[in-house]
Amino acid sequence: MHELSIVKDIFDTLEGHYGSKVEDIQKIQVTAGLLSNVQPVLIQNAFDAFIADNNSYAEMELEVLVNEIIAHCESCDKDFPVLYHRFVCPCGQPSSTIVQGNELYISKVIFKQKQ
Ligand SMILES: [Zn+2]
Repeated sequence: MHELSIVKDIFDTLEGHYGSKVEDIQKIQVTAGLLSNVQPVLIQNAFDAFIADNNSYAEMELEVLVNEIIAHCESCDKDFPVLYHRFVCPCGQPSSTIVQGNELYISKVIFKQKQ
């Protein structure tokens, strides 16, 4: 399952970075471009399954932000949003130069407030 391996990668990255402090994370925010092939609902399900198997992460939350696709037009030197996978600039020029939409990264990590 594609999404479960993504969730495992996210935790590998966090554990590499924060070590045992990962247990103190309250919320992880992940940003996924529309072209990155990540379905927010599926990654949420995979995340829920993962933390259910890992007691120390049981309270953790995940938020998935979705980035729209943005392409660059060489003809008018502008970026434009790609809607309905139509890679055509408002000026009429087709373009497949993607500047946003392929990405998948951890965009925010919020730690629990220590009392
Ligand atoms: Zn253009």
